Amino acid sequence: MAIKQLTRRWLYNSFAVILAIVITLVLASAALVRAYYYNNVRQSMMSQANYVDSLLMRYSEDSSVDYYSQLRRTVEDFELKERMELMAIGLNGQVLVTSSGFEPEDKLYMPDFEQAKESGQSTGEFIGSVNQEKIMAITMLTDSGNQEVEAMRYVVSLTLVDQQIVKVIALVTIVGMAILLFVIYSSSYFISSIVNPVGRIGETARRIAQGDLSVRLSKANDDEIGDLCDTINYMAEELSATEQMKNEFISSVSHELRTPLTAIKGWGETLTSGEVDQEMLQKGMHVILSETERLSSMVEELLDFSRIQNGRFTMNFGKVDIVAELSDAVLMFSERARRDNRTLEYTEPEGFAVMQADRNRLRQVFVNIIDNALKYSDSGDTVTVTANLLPGSFVVSVADTGIGISPEDLPKVKTKFYKANSTRRGSGIGLAVADEIVRMHGGSLDIASKLGEGTTVTITLPLLQEEKSS
Ligand code: ADP
Repeated sequence: MAIKQLTRRWLYNSFAVILAIVITLVLASAALVRAYYYNNVRQSMMSQANYVDSLLMRYSEDSSVDYYSQLRRTVEDFELKERMELMAIGLNGQVLVTSSGFEPEDKLYMPDFEQAKESGQSTGEFIGSVNQEKIMAITMLTDSGNQEVEAMRYVVSLTLVDQQIVKVIALVTIVGMAILLFVIYSSSYFISSIVNPVGRIGETARRIAQGDLSVRLSKANDDEIGDLCDTINYMAEELSATEQMKNEFISSVSHELRTPLTAIKGWGETLTSGEVDQEMLQKGMHVILSETERLSSMVEELLDFSRIQNGRFTMNFGKVDIVAELSDAVLMFSERARRDNRTLEYTEPEGFAVMQADRNRLRQVFVNIIDNALKYSDSGDTVTVTANLLPGSFVVSVADTGIGISPEDLPKVKTKFYKANSTRRGSGIGLAVADEIVRMHGGSLDIASKLGEGTTVTITLPLLQEEKSS
């Protein structure tokens, strides 16, 4: 399909133009060659005519010679009679004497004679076929005062000249055809050097589309086609990385969902077995509630993510004191930090910072970042939450002394499904959602980290100018 289309386009565009140019050149050179040859013939006839005319002039002025008999001799002994016929034409257009020796009885067809008489220029010319022979005829009126002889006429057959012209035109045509063949050959080589790789690229792209993400294209040349091969290979690599991330995401999400479900089911069975005291009932119900909470926040996160993906993630903006939201979020984790032997440090800033925000979503961001800081650190580590009120912005930083992120993973942790560490629970979408929420508030979320030393996540949010206070 591609071959046909491209070749046809080339035929329409380039080849048609080159063909038109070659045809024009052949026709133009044919016209030039014809004009050149005919002009040569005409000039040699004219020089003969002028010569004979001057002879006749001399005879007419010399009273010692008989003009007519001298003219007759000149015609009969005409030097070039093998190639050119010379005739003396009488007053009524009859041939008086001719160098061929065969005076025709009938009047000849002589448009050149008529032209010479009518044009007032004393010469006339005719090119055309007479008795199936192409001729060039020139008539020159005589100025001798002899009443009997009106004009001298010169006739040359163009058969040989035309043959010569045909030969030259044939040669030019052959050269034109050779040029065309060369163009066709070199262009078809060029086209196939595009069409074949394009076909290969198309076939590979089709296989990738059908799910075979392992195919790769070999790069033949370092040109635009080579660049296209590189891009397709890059696309396949990115697709297979995404595919792998997606599979890992499904497996980690399934795992994440199963763990709380197992706990809920276990406690449910225990509590319904009958022999349950008040303390056990309390403990069981607490686990069931907190695991249910965990499940529903995970499902919420997944729903948020899906809303971001299909562009239906909306915000419910209102005036919010961010300091209060941050303090609430930190408070939520104090119990867990103590239980897991982490130090959670937080000094609440003085005053309040007001901004247009979605209260729940903003709290979700703080919760997510603090949760990560606790999750990706170990027993004895410290998580420090700092808040700074700057002119026009509110900067929250959550720093941990945890496991850190490698420089290779750091640029990717904010992308969906990306998990730099597979040993800890998580779906890999928390940071992607948090980043999107902060972005929708006109802020930014930056991560700095050193493997083995810890991570600092900095969130910068714009404040409402007039409401800012400290
Ligand atoms: P997850 O649900 O896996 O935590 P996130 O999107 O929240 O997903 O984070 C993406 C990845 O970034 C995590 O898998 C983890 O490897 C890395 N990461 C995030 N926060 C931290 C942190 N405070 N310390 C070290 N690694 C972190």
